[in-house]
Amino acid sequence: MKSLWRLFLLLAVVTAPTALAQSGLKTRNVILITTDGLRWEEIFRGIDLELVNRQYGNVSDTNALRAQFLRDTPEESRAALFPFLWGTVGKQGQLWGNRDKNSSVRLGNSRHFSYPGYNEFLTGFPDPAIDSNDKNLNVNTNVFEWLHGQPGFNGRVAATVNWDVLPWILNAPRAGFPVWSAFDVPQGTRRLPVPEALNEMTDYSHTIWSSVLLDTFTGYAARHAVREFKPRALYVSLGETDDWAHDGAYARYLWSAHQFDRFLSSLWQLCQSMPEYRDSTTFLISTDHGRGPAPIAWKSHGREIADSAWLWFAVIGPDTAPLGERSDTPLVLQAQIAATVAGFFGKDFNAASPKAAKPFPEVIGR
Ligand SMILES: [Zn+2]
Repeated sequence: MKSLWRLFLLLAVVTAPTALAQSGLKTRNVILITTDGLRWEEIFRGIDLELVNRQYGNVSDTNALRAQFLRDTPEESRAALFPFLWGTVGKQGQLWGNRDKNSSVRLGNSRHFSYPGYNEFLTGFPDPAIDSNDKNLNVNTNVFEWLHGQPGFNGRVAATVNWDVLPWILNAPRAGFPVWSAFDVPQGTRRLPVPEALNEMTDYSHTIWSSVLLDTFTGYAARHAVREFKPRALYVSLGETDDWAHDGAYARYLWSAHQFDRFLSSLWQLCQSMPEYRDSTTFLISTDHGRGPAPIAWKSHGREIADSAWLWFAVIGPDTAPLGERSDTPLVLQAQIAATVAGFFGKDFNAASPKAAKPFPEVIGR
C-alpha cells in the first residue's frame, strides 16, 4: 500500500506540467499590474484614521478626506477607496493578504525595498546579491523575457513602466520585448512607440520626483499598448503610492491608491471591449513591498521595518474561482508571482527556471 502511494505521488509530480498544459485554461492574455509600496492595510481595512491629521499624515482638510473615504464599516470604507478591487475583483476574483483574516503574502527577500522586490516577482526568486536600487542590468531572467521566447509570444510581450530603474531590472536589451519608459533606457532597449503628445507631456512633467513618473502617463501608455499592439503578456508598473508615502502625504497616497484602482477598472473595461481580450484575460495585481505601520513607520520600508515584508495580491480572470476575499490561506511568497503569470498560459516557468517559486495555489483553475 505504501509503495502504491509512493508511485501515485511520483506520477502526480511527473505528470503535473502536462496536466497544466492540457488543463483547458481559457486565459489567452495576462496583464501583471503593480503599484509601488501600497500597503495591505489600506487594501483590506481602508483609510487609516491614525494618519488623518496634520501630525502623522500631513492632512490639512481632514473632513474632506473622511467624507471621501470613511464609511460606517471597514468593508464599506475599503470599497470607497478601491471600488474596482472590491466591487469587481472581490466578487469575480480573489484577494490575498488580509492578515486580520489569517491570509499572509510575504516577501522572500530580506531587503524590503524596490529592486529586490521587482526582481523577486519578475524572475521568481529573491537574489541576495541585489542590495541596491542602482541601474545594474539584472542577470536573472524574468518571466516576460522567457515568455517572449516561447512559440506564439514573439512580438506579443510588452511593458510600460513608471520608474527609471525598471528597464535595467527587466534587462530590456536582453529581454528583447518593447518597453515604454519616460526616462533614459539601457542601450539596446526596444522602445514601445506611443503618440508624440505623450512623450512631450512626460518630458515636461518631471517636476515632483526625479526618477519616477506620474501614474496618469504610464497608465495612458499601458492602454495605448493594449489598443494598438494587443500584447498577450503585459507588465504595467505604477507607483505614486510609494512616492507620496515617502513624502509623508497621506491624502495624496490615498488619492493615488484610488486612481490606481480607477486605472485597473479602465484597463479591465478596455479589455472587455476588445475581442482579443474579452473573457480571455487574467489580471494579476500586486506591489513590490509593504510599508511600516501607523503612525510613523508607514512612510517607509526596508530591512529595519519588519512589517514592510507583508504584501497582498489580487487576481481576476476566466480561470480563477470567484472566492473573493480569502481567509485562512497557506502562507505564500512574492516570488510565486512569476510562475503564476506563466501558469495562466498553461506554461511551466519552473521547468525553465528551477530556482523560481511555484505558482500560487488555488488561483489557477476553477
Ligand atoms: Zn519606496
